[in-house]
Order: sequence, then C-alpha cells, then structure tokens
Amino acid sequence: MTNFHQMRERLLDELNVPSPVVPLVVDWHGAENLSLSIKRDDCIHPIISGNKWRKLADIFLQMTAPPPRVLSFGGGFSNHLHALGYVCHRLGIPFTAIVRGDYSRTPPPMLRDLSQWHTDIQYVTKHEFRQRNTPAYTAALQARYPGAMLIPEGGSQRAALAGVSQLIREQPVPFDTVLCPVASGATLAGIISALTPDQHALGVGVLQGEGYLESLVTKLLPDAPQNWHIEHRYTHGGYAKTSPELLGFCDDFERQTGIPVEPVYSGKLLFALKQMIAHGQFMAGHRLLIVHTGGLQGARWY
Ligand SMILES: *Cc1c(COP(=O)(O)O)cnc(C)c1O
Repeated sequence: MTNFHQMRERLLDELNVPSPVVPLVVDWHGAENLSLSIKRDDCIHPIISGNKWRKLADIFLQMTAPPPRVLSFGGGFSNHLHALGYVCHRLGIPFTAIVRGDYSRTPPPMLRDLSQWHTDIQYVTKHEFRQRNTPAYTAALQARYPGAMLIPEGGSQRAALAGVSQLIREQPVPFDTVLCPVASGATLAGIISALTPDQHALGVGVLQGEGYLESLVTKLLPDAPQNWHIEHRYTHGGYAKTSPELLGFCDDFERQTGIPVEPVYSGKLLFALKQMIAHGQFMAGHRLLIVHTGGLQGARWY
C-alpha cells in the first residue's frame, strides 16, 4: 500500500502543474488590438498531457487505495487511453482498454505504447463499442473484471470537472474570454464551472454536433450559467478530418510561435480563432485566454 502512495508521489512530482501561461505572439490580421495568452497544458507531462490529466486528476488524487483494475474506452488514437494507460502503469494498477475497431494487425503508436505498458487491450466491433454506456454492458464488464473501476470514454464524467476547473483557478490571469476545443464537452463544462459572471467561455466544436455538443455540456453541468457558447463552423468536416489549409496552418503556427499543435484539437481551435479575429468578432482590448489541451501524441501519424 505504501508502495502505491510512493509511486503516486513520484508521478505527481513529475507534473508541471501549475502549467505556464504565456503571451501568444502572432502576426494575424486583427490580433494587434487584442491581448492573447495561452495556457500551456500541453506542457504538464510528455505523456499525461493536457486536459486528459485534468479530467483524471481528481480520481487519482482522491484514491486512498488502488482499485484491482481500471477499465476505460476509446478509439485507436485516443489521448485519454494513452494518458490513463500510462498513469495506471506507473501506479501498478492493471488496466483494460476497450478499443473501438480491430487494430491488432497494424497498431498505431498509441496502442503500441499501451502494449508496452502491459495494458490488456480488447478490440471490439463498432456495434459492441456503441453499447459501452448501457447498464447491461457495464454490468457484464463488472462481472468479467470484478472490482474494476470503470472510467467513461475521454474520462468525461462529473468527477472530471473539478480537476478541469483547476486550470482556470491555479494561476489566475485576467481574461474576458477563454477558448478550448470541444469533443465530449467535459473540458468546456469544467472551465465554465470556474468562471466569474463577467467572463465568457467559447468552445470550438471539433466534430459536427450542433445542439448535441451543447447538450453534453449541460448534462455534465445541469445548472450551467449562460456565459458560454460553442462555434460549429470550424469542424473541417468532422472529427479528425483535416484539410491542406488546416495542416498548413498548423505548420505556420508552430514555426511562428514555437508552440506545437496537432490538427485534431488545438490546431482546429487556433485556426478558428484566427478566422474569428479576422472577422472582427472581438472588441479592441479584449483579453483572450486560449487553453492548449495537449494531445500531441495523437498526431504521430499525421
Ligand atoms: C480529448 C481532447 C479534447 C476534447 O476534450 P473534451 O473534454 O472531450 O471536450 C481536446 N483537446 C485534446 C488535446 C484532447 O485530447
């Protein structure tokens, strides 16, 4: 048992928290009239980066004893499975990953890492994966893995919000609008929960889901205030879909700022921001805080 606590201490010592907030210097048309800062959650840890650590933080910080197993769900490039698999590996907790689709013949880098960390990888069909949140399916998993702690896909659950809200609270910088990418909505919900009434949260949808993404946020945060909204115009056709324009933008951004981005989340967010600024969506003097949610491991195949 002491072993678990020591391993956790060692891991927590490696985390770069509070993560840095730095000015974002870009030559975008219109940006000269605004104040731009970026919260570098991508710097938290080389593997447990970004919002995936934020969403898991509370679970592992509150844990008094390790569960016999942790089990979670995701796609073949999942940043969540990657972060969680590594945390479990470091804490000596057996981990089962239920993966959508069969990658056994050509596993992407994410899954090769999981194998190296001794994850029990279970490939399931899309049909089976769709049942992951149904009571019958989770009961069957509990029967097969007694005592296992089930964590939903993306780590997105109510318990994730407190850890996410920390990213706003841990190092107060003045801002009017905070921006983040939105897939399952938990990051945005956690950020909203930490806002003061005069602050606004702007989510950029990375998949097509107008109405759906908003419902995910309100389900996680039933009494959410009204000071937030989601932009749906910058999905580039859907989840993990890219365009030459977006990939070119990511390269330019990296060259100009020295900040690495990937096209699934942070690249789409910053691309959207550049467009919104060009369209004059923010008043002169407006202070914007951009959350870099990490996830760079997922881009190893782009
Ligand atoms: C998972 C992920 C997101 C999406 O966060 P949600 O809480 O699911 O909306 C954003 N950025 C990165 C880098 C991610 O890995």
